[in-house]
Amino acid sequence: MMYFPNSAEKFRRLLESVRGLNVAVFGHVRPDGDCVSSMFATADTLREAGAKKVVCVDAHPLPRLYKNFAFGEEIVPAKNFDGKNFHTVCVDCSSFSRTGAENFSNLPFLATIDHHVSSGPSGALIDILEPDAAAAAELIAGMHLDSGISISQKNAERLFMGIMMDTRQLTTPSAKYRTWEIASELVKLGADPAKVARELYQRESFAKIKLLASYLKTLTMHFDNRVCIGLLESGVYERTGAEKADSDGLVDYARSIDGVEVAALLEHIPDGVKGSLRAKDPKFRVDEIAAKFGGGGHMAAAGFTAKGMDINTFYPQLLSAIEEHLREIDSAKKK
Ligand code: 5GP
Ligand code: MN
Repeated sequence: MMYFPNSAEKFRRLLESVRGLNVAVFGHVRPDGDCVSSMFATADTLREAGAKKVVCVDAHPLPRLYKNFAFGEEIVPAKNFDGKNFHTVCVDCSSFSRTGAENFSNLPFLATIDHHVSSGPSGALIDILEPDAAAAAELIAGMHLDSGISISQKNAERLFMGIMMDTRQLTTPSAKYRTWEIASELVKLGADPAKVARELYQRESFAKIKLLASYLKTLTMHFDNRVCIGLLESGVYERTGAEKADSDGLVDYARSIDGVEVAALLEHIPDGVKGSLRAKDPKFRVDEIAAKFGGGGHMAAAGFTAKGMDINTFYPQLLSAIEEHLREIDSAKKK
């Protein structure tokens, strides 16, 4: 039985094609745990496959929370990378617009390894897209297992971490039996769930908790308490000392409230508003709402950047997009 029969062959082709090449592995802007683990594990495997030089590149730095999964690997800031004589691979995203490093889109584009339902064809030589995979790390681990390519203990730990972060400890609707199977294979290969959990859930910075407090203070209910929206306003990072990656997961607190069907986090950024959307039931397609504002993601977890907007003018636009979608869902239920 294969986990990813449509992709494992492409993965093997990628590993054959990197021999002797310099490869830059790109992840998406504001890399999360899944993105970081996918970049690092892929980089190791490409080296094993005979790539000459492999570097991980991202527009944003490695978040503090994932430093103990680096095992000596680094993220080269995109602004310091010249790309000369490098081929590119994108993981946990399919386009250079998501990497925030569009200036590298003209390098030979070898492959994408992605699991976002909103991703279209990437234009890479080898397109690996499995929207059913709950995490890019699930896909990457699965393709290794399908192909009999060994996974070191450190990569088992990284990939297990990636799966945990994209599935809220294997409990999102996207986490299927396959996800649990692959996660358990990673445990067999040396990932220690208790250690990973300690790293992820018992090492928060105090600054992040202050950031959470300021988000919680702004939570507001709409539409009979079915929708909950909170804000990260201008200056909040300076005030709390939090890093940008600390916003990851805050929106889950809004979603966690009983009766809330859709949650949002709106963050002031210098050139607009960054939005994070979460649904409880994937029938409420937050990826479709995000797409209305130029973003994308998964059915129950998506995001966007509304350029040139400020939170106050954008807020009612988001509300009416959500309201419209709620109405569609309600009328579909009545039928
Ligand atoms: P978050 O809300 O945590 O930033 O993102 C939720 C999901 O949506 C993640 O899988 C993320 O990669 C994706 N996502 C977030 N922002 C964007 C965006 O602007 N464009 C696209 N295509 N996907 C996004
Ligand atoms: Mn992911």
